[in-house]
Amino acid sequence: MNWEELKQEQPTVMTMLEQSVEKGRLAHAYLFEGMKGTGKRDASILLAKALFCQDKTETIPCENCIQCRRISHGNHPDVMIVDPEGNSIKKAQVEALQKEFAYKGMEAGLKVYIVNEADKMTASAANSLLKFLEEPESPTLALLLTENVHFMLDTIISRSQKIAFAPPPIQKRISLYEEQGLTQAAASILARFPDDIAGEYAEEKRDWIVHGRNLVIQLVEEVQHRPQQMLLTLQEKWLPHFTDRQEQDIGLDLLLFWYRDILSVKYEQDNLAYPDQREKLKQDALQLSEKEVAKRLQQILEAKRRLRANVNVQLLMEQLLLHLQEGS
Ligand SMILES: [Zn+2]
Repeated sequence: MNWEELKQEQPTVMTMLEQSVEKGRLAHAYLFEGMKGTGKRDASILLAKALFCQDKTETIPCENCIQCRRISHGNHPDVMIVDPEGNSIKKAQVEALQKEFAYKGMEAGLKVYIVNEADKMTASAANSLLKFLEEPESPTLALLLTENVHFMLDTIISRSQKIAFAPPPIQKRISLYEEQGLTQAAASILARFPDDIAGEYAEEKRDWIVHGRNLVIQLVEEVQHRPQQMLLTLQEKWLPHFTDRQEQDIGLDLLLFWYRDILSVKYEQDNLAYPDQREKLKQDALQLSEKEVAKRLQQILEAKRRLRANVNVQLLMEQLLLHLQEGS
């Protein structure tokens, strides 16, 4: 996306950044927070361009000058981008960044670094970065990007200015899926996932998600009414369906949507992830208090967090189901 396009999708964010650039009042560190597909990465690159571009129109970079092109190609000397290596961002990566900047620090001028999926920093990487945020050696702008701000260290959050990227309007996404011939039930669940998981070019994945959704409906029914069944379903259906970490995470999301729907039904809100299950959701809403639902949401989020720590998935899921069932 270019600046204008992104501004249409994220007017608040882009207007704020525009004004800060114009007035020369950028913070030293920003935390860009929002769902996948909301344009955080584009915004960070565009902001870097807006700072270095030689031919910009007000704050809008030209995309054409040597500075802009170097940033596009990831080889601008003063703009560094850090991505996770494997599953995490390691201390060595943060140290390499600091070394590079210390070395270049002799040449005056702004340095920008962008950390994608910043929540994937290991504890030691995060602590290294923290020192860097506190004592940069030259004028530095840090752009930390995350889809999971609650996995980040409070100390990093408190030293950054948090910028929330708005999720794309879900109703719009649902309609798009329906126009492609999907049922309302399928569209309502797929629209909750980013395009690279459930988009047009992922037909197999779509079927897989819809099947996963049906497993959730079965599983929550068992959790609520036939708990003696649930571990068997986990073993025979759930685990074979959600095989790697990314898939298991999606499985937990599907489960999360169910409990969120219970709250929505309680508040008489529309926009359910499981619109065809309204009657079952109503029953669950009668049986569980708001507090009990909130507790279950917490437990699922906690399971999502632990999933990243290479725990045994079967154990993790067994414990989760027991928690969901007992509410303890
Ligand atoms: Zn330019």
